[in-house]
Amino acid sequence: MNWSKFLKNKLEIRKIEKLWRKRRIIENYNTRIIYINKKKYINFSSNNYLGLSHNKNIIESWKIALNKYGSGSGGSGHIIGYNEAHYKLEKDLENWLDYPQALLFHSGYSANQSIITTLMNKKDLIIADKLSHISLIESSIFSKAKLKRFPHNRMDILKKFSIQNDFSKKLIITEGVFSMDGDHSPLNKIHHIAKKNNAFLLVDDAHGIGVLGKEGKGSCEVYNIKPDLLIITFGKAFGLSGAALLCNKIIGEYFLQYSKGLIYSTSIPPAQASALSKSILQIRKSDCLRNKLNENINYFRKLIKNYNFPFLDSHTAIQPLIIGDNQKSLKLSNFLKKNGFFAQAILPPSVPKNSSRLRITITANHLFIDFEKLVELLNYFFNKKK
Ligand SMILES: *Cc1c(COP(=O)(O)O)cnc(C)c1O
Repeated sequence: MNWSKFLKNKLEIRKIEKLWRKRRIIENYNTRIIYINKKKYINFSSNNYLGLSHNKNIIESWKIALNKYGSGSGGSGHIIGYNEAHYKLEKDLENWLDYPQALLFHSGYSANQSIITTLMNKKDLIIADKLSHISLIESSIFSKAKLKRFPHNRMDILKKFSIQNDFSKKLIITEGVFSMDGDHSPLNKIHHIAKKNNAFLLVDDAHGIGVLGKEGKGSCEVYNIKPDLLIITFGKAFGLSGAALLCNKIIGEYFLQYSKGLIYSTSIPPAQASALSKSILQIRKSDCLRNKLNENINYFRKLIKNYNFPFLDSHTAIQPLIIGDNQKSLKLSNFLKKNGFFAQAILPPSVPKNSSRLRITITANHLFIDFEKLVELLNYFFNKKK
């Protein structure tokens, strides 16, 4: 098969499966409202849970650091790209989350790739929740370790996999808050199983950090555990982008010596690191934003209780409305869009087959009226006379 045939075939498959993905240009965006083609929408698809992408203090500190350090870092952290702003951000993360070592990555995706492939090798075993983010699953496949996936949150199967002793090292992978279902994992139980079976535990808390726990310390604070490897990302509640690994000194040193993602890649701009330090400060003292977010979640859940919409029972900002049929999901998303509401349909392979959905995400910036109107529209869509 030649290249053009291969590419044409692959694209044709996406069209036949009706899973064609399309990007939209967002013209303006202030967390609650977005503009597409000059039309205004209430935005229910952002991970900007606290609205910090538009926080004046964070923007100002980015500007000040930009003037001080310039736009780029100039190299990898091992050459000249380890600026005092990066150092400060690491210290701020260590103090906040009470870990001896923080290391910075460009994104959650690249952090997971670098961390898992640097740790795991032939003869090792990775045990991951089936609903783990694709960055975790893909890098587990890329590593040479054996990968076993346990059904979502099934502790009996996790136990069964963890007991096995014919592997050199074992790594258990889960998330604090699952990105597509919005539920938690029983971190205390998983932590116990990991300890008992001499496995490292990796928790990706992309959707819990900043939002849950005291000072926004995330899912692990709520469950009172400290995983060996805690991944947090800055693209969600932080309102910026990037990621960090929190771990102990010796694990940290191992990554500094062996992680190709750290050694061979330009570090994030120092100004961004400064803005991230400001974002941590903001998050730590943002109980009122977290309260507002919880108020919004509770109000929304109270509203939908009166109907039998197929929502999953989620108590977090992620409220998945399971439709199943891809076409119907798209139809609902388009219907909402026509009425000024943006809620993106999520189709396989991002979610399991026959579980396509609308992933409605709630932020601290939404108004009660947004939820009231949204529920009215959902009611019309599901219950209108045919
Ligand atoms: C969003 C997300 C990532 C990817 O993080 P980016 O910084 O956006 O690359 C990784 N893991 C989970 C669980 C996520 O939800």
